[in-house]
Amino acid sequence: MIAPGETIGILGGGQLGRMIALAAANLGYRCHVYAPEADPIAADVCAAFTQGAFDDKAALSAFAEQCAVVTYEFENVAAGPLGAIAPHARLHPPARALEVAQDRVNEKTFVEALGGRPAPWAQVDSLDDLKAAVAKIGAPGILKTRRDGYDGKGQWRIMTPADADALDLAGVPQIYEGFVNFAAEFSVILVRTAAGEVRFWDSAENVHKNGILDRSTVPASQVILDQVDEARALAAKVADALDYVGVLTLEFFATAQGPVFNEMAPRVHNSGHWSIEGALTSQFENHVRAICGLPLGSTQLAAKGVVMDNLIGDDAHDWPAILSDSANHLHLYGKAAVRPGRKMGHVTRLVL
Ligand code: AMP
Repeated sequence: MIAPGETIGILGGGQLGRMIALAAANLGYRCHVYAPEADPIAADVCAAFTQGAFDDKAALSAFAEQCAVVTYEFENVAAGPLGAIAPHARLHPPARALEVAQDRVNEKTFVEALGGRPAPWAQVDSLDDLKAAVAKIGAPGILKTRRDGYDGKGQWRIMTPADADALDLAGVPQIYEGFVNFAAEFSVILVRTAAGEVRFWDSAENVHKNGILDRSTVPASQVILDQVDEARALAAKVADALDYVGVLTLEFFATAQGPVFNEMAPRVHNSGHWSIEGALTSQFENHVRAICGLPLGSTQLAAKGVVMDNLIGDDAHDWPAILSDSANHLHLYGKAAVRPGRKMGHVTRLVL
């Protein structure tokens, strides 16, 4: 067990790291952020900060020497250099979870081997591969970069086979996915301890705008509730297969044929931010509890329902109006620059 008072290292300096650090502070831990940027928003609420590249083994090693356990809030970190952490501190979740989740081909292959069902997909390394994929899977579909995609970035919709001809893949490995005709989207968020205990939060119904999460609602609509058990069973298999410790998220499409796996994130997730006020224990606190070997807190709902709205770009300027309604819980991430499509904060409302 890593006792309160010890130091938790966090790789990545964004809002997820910031909210992990806030939860850790409530339990009496110190946090030390490691991130490449000069002024990460997570460091504003942490005891220590190291600026370093994610592939700088010497810097990672020096950082890990100062931590009892290291976790990450960002999955596009190369797994190899993280080997520098092992001699000094535990790494939770495991590096293997990063390798699987950060590459869409690895992710889909891994989940299919466990019985999960993604959208029909094909690996695309050239324009000829793309034409063959569109001929086999059909259009419409979505071309996605294999790596480094998030919030709808690195994605191109292909409405007709002719759209494929005009694309310049620029040598970047991609995958092509058939378009899923879904009734709704939802996520399964679980926490797993080193001893294999697994708890799930209620699944949120997620609505995206321009590829970015806009709103998460709990409880989800019936079409989702009918598919949650099957989706949870898959998520638990993924967690067990990875010997996972911490919070893990799987995103699904609810379709007439049952849950279709979209992607996984080996970390706390935007669609679980509602749990800060809406569950007895938040995803952030249970992540800290799991990686430190503490008993888990209850994941039960703390209200009849919860709605979480993201504040994207200029939405953040509305904070005075948001605060003028006393039922709103406002979270601003402290980002200095407002940019279109940037997640600036979120607002949570409980249905009592
Ligand atoms: P992703 O980054 O892969 O999660 O994609 C972001 C959003 O784009 C998803 O949450 C969906 O709303 C939409 N999307 C992604 N892939 C597909 C697909 N194969 N079919 C339909 N919609 C999709």
